[in-house]
Amino acid sequence: MLAVTRVLAPNPGVYTLEGTNTWVVGSEPSIVIDPGPDLPAHLADVAREAGRVGAILVTHDHPDHTPGALPFAEMVGAPVYAYRLAGAQELRAGQRVRAGALNLTAIHTPGHTSDHVAFFEPGSGALFTGDAVVGRGTSFIDPPDGNLVQYLRSLTRMEELGPRTIYPGHGPVVVRAKEKIREYLAHREERESQVLTALADGPRTIAEMVEVIYVDHPKDVRPLAARSMLAHLLKLADEGRAERTGKTDEGPWISSTPRTCQRCGRTVKGKARYCSSCSLAMLQAER
Ligand SMILES: [Zn+2]
Ligand SMILES: [Zn+2]
Repeated sequence: MLAVTRVLAPNPGVYTLEGTNTWVVGSEPSIVIDPGPDLPAHLADVAREAGRVGAILVTHDHPDHTPGALPFAEMVGAPVYAYRLAGAQELRAGQRVRAGALNLTAIHTPGHTSDHVAFFEPGSGALFTGDAVVGRGTSFIDPPDGNLVQYLRSLTRMEELGPRTIYPGHGPVVVRAKEKIREYLAHREERESQVLTALADGPRTIAEMVEVIYVDHPKDVRPLAARSMLAHLLKLADEGRAERTGKTDEGPWISSTPRTCQRCGRTVKGKARYCSSCSLAMLQAER
């Protein structure tokens, strides 16, 4: 059985729930995932729990996951692997990180951030999801580094791995892993249909949509909700199903009908007349 221990960082908040989960996987040597903020007392707790450390992994470069990584590496004398972090070894998609008999595979899962990686242990079905899936509530997608189109693809990718247990970056362990991922996909689908319904009634600003769609939520989540709403609108704009009419992201936004490529008939992005492959083919033909 895979030994996994959580050391909770003392950084509770709106984004972090009870705090960041630092995961200690295996032992002698162990792998430490997300040392979290650079808080010496927390890092000392992690070092005590982790014993001899073979590798340190970082899921993404947000301040609640990363700043402790290099100081912790210094403390325990182990290498740090990350997709995007100065001073760390660069992690590639699909790369396996070994420590003793333990083997974790890096799964590039952009969406929450563009550098986000999850770590999978195929033998036990353990999936360490960082902020791509959290133990309670939903993941926050903040454009432009956050991208909903990529995020949905990443959720599907994680579901396809057939995980059994999710060890999230925040909140409790999830034992019904695949159901949780399907719930996440369904939640985004529902939000999207709420946005489309709102736009069907005429032009709407983001603030107006948040007011209606997040009516049951406390007012202090509205700034986050507005960013999430923008992520949905950018996805719809990409698919030609919504359009921004105002000068800023705030809108107003209107619904639109996807255009088709005048050469091949496929759906095109935004207002383009031709799809990207036809544009390229025509450019090459001109030469
Ligand atoms: Zn994050
Ligand atoms: Zn986080």
